[in-house]
Amino acid sequence: MPPAEPDLQALVARIHDELAPRFGAGKVADYIPPLAHVDPRKFAIAVVTPEGETFAAGDADEPFSIQSVSKVFTLTLALGRLGDRVWDRVGREPSGDPFNSIVQLEHEQGRPRNPFINAGAITVADMVLAGHTPREAIGEILRFVRFLADDEDIAIDQAVARAEHETGDRNFALAHFMHGFGRLTNPVAHVLGVYFHHCAIAMTARQLARAGLFLAAGGRDPLTGARVVAPARARRLNALMLTCGHYDGSGEFAFKVGLPGKSGVGGGILAVAPGRAAIAVWSPGLNAVGNSLLGSEALELLAARAGWSIFGG
Ligand code: GLN
Repeated sequence: MPPAEPDLQALVARIHDELAPRFGAGKVADYIPPLAHVDPRKFAIAVVTPEGETFAAGDADEPFSIQSVSKVFTLTLALGRLGDRVWDRVGREPSGDPFNSIVQLEHEQGRPRNPFINAGAITVADMVLAGHTPREAIGEILRFVRFLADDEDIAIDQAVARAEHETGDRNFALAHFMHGFGRLTNPVAHVLGVYFHHCAIAMTARQLARAGLFLAAGGRDPLTGARVVAPARARRLNALMLTCGHYDGSGEFAFKVGLPGKSGVGGGILAVAPGRAAIAVWSPGLNAVGNSLLGSEALELLAARAGWSIFGG
């Protein structure tokens, strides 16, 4: 049996120190200058428990681009608005393909495999946009993230949003393709405006772990008492993060870490240890499938040593 109450501060500090000689490992996303210029040696880990304790090491108070981690929050919003009708337009199966792949989309007539690949998240952005202007939808997403993190001090990095737009050919291709199949209800430019802006939200590891705490606590924010989603929905969000949260690296992440998690190309990962903690890590260097290399290793060490894998042991 793992220790009932691991000394979490000592644990995160030790993981930081053990990985420190390899800080900078992996390949930083370079498709936009604001990400290419991030110091690759940055590293952060933050653990927030349902009791409200936070344990952190490294650059845990430095904001980074959360990128695709934001897809968890937009999906939560879309489910709140549409309920199970979300699943009429997006699937729940792992893709086994890169996050920006277009091949599967043609076979499946423009219905994305899951809400976390780009095509799925673009469809979710279309749902959040319905009935709003892009500016209103972006504002709603940002307010929701601030509410989850209980922190008004979270912002969108406008330089990142602009750069996403300028280099967004593949996302435009995906969106036009889906629009061609009649799968998007709003103009492509508006939908991608929402998508690029939520990818450009900047948060610290501490804020990100705090924002994910509801997923570790049955859908309720244990610190404010706010009910964010029903327990069944939290469980299902966790299931989707486990099966689809790391794209074609999801199997490997489940095998090695054993926690629901969502990665972003900024090098952040939000992971959930149900009942125990929400965890955020940040290390900009990515592995071959676009997930944080050292971030994944930090979570592997943490889950193993704290005994938090959902598969036991
Ligand atoms: N903004 C990135 C993109 O659309 C997000 C991808 C990611 O974080 N995996 O390509």
